[in-house]
Amino acid sequence: MTSLGIYVHIPFCLSKCAYCDFYSKCGTKGEYNKYTEALCYHIESSDMRSSGYEVDSIYFGGGTPTAIGARNLIKILGSIYRSFIISDTCEITLEANPNSVDLTMLRKLHRAGFNRISFGMQSASAAELQILGRTHTFEDVKNAVTAARKAKFDNISLDLMFALPNQTIGDFLDSLDAAIELSPEHISCYILKLEEGTPLAKSLDAASLPSEDNQADMYLAAVTRLSDEGYEQYEISNFAKEGFRSHHNMKYWTLGDYLGFGPSAHSLMDKKRFSYIRDTEKYIAALEEDGDVTEKSEDISTAERCAEYLMLGLRTCDGISADILENNYLVSFDKIEKVLLRYHESGHTDFDGLKWRLTPEGFLISNHIISEVLDALEASKHILDLLSKE
Ligand code: SF4
Repeated sequence: MTSLGIYVHIPFCLSKCAYCDFYSKCGTKGEYNKYTEALCYHIESSDMRSSGYEVDSIYFGGGTPTAIGARNLIKILGSIYRSFIISDTCEITLEANPNSVDLTMLRKLHRAGFNRISFGMQSASAAELQILGRTHTFEDVKNAVTAARKAKFDNISLDLMFALPNQTIGDFLDSLDAAIELSPEHISCYILKLEEGTPLAKSLDAASLPSEDNQADMYLAAVTRLSDEGYEQYEISNFAKEGFRSHHNMKYWTLGDYLGFGPSAHSLMDKKRFSYIRDTEKYIAALEEDGDVTEKSEDISTAERCAEYLMLGLRTCDGISADILENNYLVSFDKIEKVLLRYHESGHTDFDGLKWRLTPEGFLISNHIISEVLDALEASKHILDLLSKE
C-alpha cells in the first residue's frame, strides 16, 4: 500500500496572537460544532478505504485545534478512522496551546488515539510572551507537559521562537534551557517573522529586533545546545531525540502524498497539488451545496518535482544526492555540484560521499544557496540529451 498523511485544519483560536497571519479566528461553541459536522461530512464523503493508501500520519493543526474541545476532535478522528485504512503505527499529532488543555481532556484525547502533542511554548519569559500576545505563561507550559505525561503522551513537541524584540542571546538560551528541562522528544525553533499587517508589525520599533549577526549567533548557539542535549537537527528549524522526527513534517519534505481537510488546507496526491477554499463559512456552504471546495488545483510536472526535491532536500539534514537526481529525474548533477563545492570551501555545505547537505552555517543562508542551486538546475542538461551527443 502507498503511505498517506492526513492534515486536518482547525481554523479557530481562543484569541489572536500579535504576530500571527495564519488563517484562524475566534469562534463560538455553535461555530465549532457546525464546523465539526461539515468537516466530518467532507472526510467521510472522500472514503478512501479501498484506494490502496494506508495512513501513517495524521496531524491536527490550525489555529488551535484544542479550542473546539475534546468531543469535536474525537468525532473528527472517528470520521478519519471510518474513511481510511490507518496503519497500526500511525502518528496522530495534535497542536495545542498550553492553556487550552487539562488532564481530563488530555486523557480523553489519548484514549481516542492521539499519541503526539505539540505545544506552542514560544518563550519562557513573561515579558516576551506578552509582546507576542500569547495568553499563556511558562507555568502553563510546565503544567501542560506534566498533564500530557500523566495522560500517557510519550511524544511531546515544544515550539519556540527567537529573534524577538529586545531579546539577547542569553534570553533565548534561557528559554531554550527551560524547554529542554521539560524533556520533550521534539523541539522546533522558529525565527520571528514580522508579517505585514499584523498588530506586532504595526506597533514594533524595528530597531528593537536583534541584528542579523545576533540572530545568526542565537541560531548557531541553539543548534549546539540542542545537539549537546541529544537532539538531532533534522531540518533547518526542527530537532528531535532519536526516533522522534515528526512523521508529518517528513512527509512534506520528502514529497510524500498527503491529503488536507478544512479551509485553506493543501494536498499533494498522485503528482497533483490542490487546496481548499480559505474562508470557513464559504467552505461549509460549498460542502452543503455540491461538495466542491477546491480553490486551486495543478498537476506537478517532473521538472517541478525535481526542483522541489532539491529545494526540500536542502532544508533537511538528509540532503540531496546525485544518484536520485540523475536516476529519478534524468538531470545531470554537474552544474549543481559546482555550486555545492563552492559553498563547501566556505563551510556552508557538507558531503559524506553519497549526499550533499547544508551545515548549520549553510542553513542560515539557505535561501541564497537554494536559489543558486535552482539556477544551476535550470542550466543543467537532461541526461538523454547528453547521451545523444556522445
Ligand atoms: S495560537 Fe497559533 S494560529 Fe492561533 S493566533 Fe496564535 S499563532 Fe496564530
